[in-house]
Amino acid sequence: LPEIALAGRSNVGKSSFINKMIQRKNLARTSSKPGKTQTLNFYKINEAFYFVDVPGYGYAKVSKKERKAWGKMMENYFTKRENLKAAIMVVDMRHKPTEDDLLMYDFLKYYEIPVIVIATKMDKVPKSKRAKHVKQITEELELETKDIMIPFSAETGDGKDEAWSAIKSYI
Ligand code: GDP
Repeated sequence: LPEIALAGRSNVGKSSFINKMIQRKNLARTSSKPGKTQTLNFYKINEAFYFVDVPGYGYAKVSKKERKAWGKMMENYFTKRENLKAAIMVVDMRHKPTEDDLLMYDFLKYYEIPVIVIATKMDKVPKSKRAKHVKQITEELELETKDIMIPFSAETGDGKDEAWSAIKSYI
């Protein structure tokens, strides 16, 4: 089955994104433990594809040893996967991308993986400021034109249809 990787800083709203997309409350457990897991979680969706949950990045709070293990796992997965069709990178629409977000985007581009950026927590940004935030994130990441940016809210479900269309275009 095709695979879509899912990456995002700890606590950015990745679990909430998955759960909203598949209308579940708890398939993806929401947690705030920063970057502890060193394993990839596969969620089979509608017998059609896998969401491959990449453990939360965010280097600040993890040891050098953990960072190394994480890097190795990521490299193994991203270099060898023929089924990997695209990556979803979840960022917080309220803020500029962090240093870790920039590193992750560059990492995905290095492996030539198409990226769908989900700018989540859109409900927390006033309507009048949303376009400005989208533009700023696009510029800071230096988003390639073929990559897609979708404002999203796990609270309201805004952006859900657009996110599904984007995923379907890759699987
Ligand atoms: P994860 O660690 O990346 O999986 O993040 P979670 O999905 O656990 O979300 C972290 C926190 O942000 C939780 O308190 C969520 O309820 C909240 N959250 C996630 N997405 C949204 C959103 O779209 N809007 C709002 N208002 N809160 C959100």
